[in-house]
Amino acid sequence: MHRFFVAPELLRQLHADITLPGELAHQLRDVLRLQVGEQIVLLDNSGDEILATIASVSKSAVDVQTLERRAGRSESPVRIILCQGLLKSARFEWILEKGTELGVSVFSPILCHRSMAGLEDAGTSKIQRWQRIIQEAAEQSGRTRLPELLPIRPLMHALNDIPPGALALMPWEEERAVTLRDALRDAMHQITVVLFIGPEGGLAVDEVRLAQRHGAQVVSLGSRILRAETAALVAVACVMYELEQ
Ligand code: SAM
Repeated sequence: MHRFFVAPELLRQLHADITLPGELAHQLRDVLRLQVGEQIVLLDNSGDEILATIASVSKSAVDVQTLERRAGRSESPVRIILCQGLLKSARFEWILEKGTELGVSVFSPILCHRSMAGLEDAGTSKIQRWQRIIQEAAEQSGRTRLPELLPIRPLMHALNDIPPGALALMPWEEERAVTLRDALRDAMHQITVVLFIGPEGGLAVDEVRLAQRHGAQVVSLGSRILRAETAALVAVACVMYELEQ
């Protein structure tokens, strides 16, 4: 069934007739060509799913009637905060899409020493595009809560923001002793994991030492050097594999 995030205030009442916002009405009527009587799922970011049926379709509007509110089942009890060294846009957008599918709760684009110049000036339209990518991936993958997208900020700010009691992990391409598996083996009951992934140029030694002073554990993802976006998704998938019961 097609799923759509809408403004929460639209879904306050059940068994109500709702006129959908223009852009969504266009998508249902002209792109997906949905008919009267078909059912859809509306989402208000509460974690619930609201079942609705299409009541009328006209050139000017699409009305639906809400039928039932039920608890969603797809949100993970594991909260992953992915602090990603900012990458060229296409590669970062790929992480937003796949990371949303894999269950990331918060995306935190960070500026590192070796971040490429000029990436920090992501204008409003780019941020809106990133949020659209996250929303579409959340709708497609059956999520009931939208991952949060934090403003671009320096690594230091993200380190200062590690929630108390969270497991902070920094995969580093030069780490040889401790693997991600070692770190997760002792974290079976952990619910919040903060991952710090470097940019294209990798992480500088002083950034790694800084992270360690903030309590982050430096880990290896194996002997092969992974591209930043590969490393991010491997780390997220491994955390979910180990911790999501
Ligand atoms: N130059 C490549 C690129 O353009 O993507 C590699 C960049 S660098 C290695 C990307 C980041 O991925 C690193 O800073 C680290 O966080 C993570 N990473 C990649 N391979 C890793 C490995 N084998 N072990 C731990 N972390 C790794």
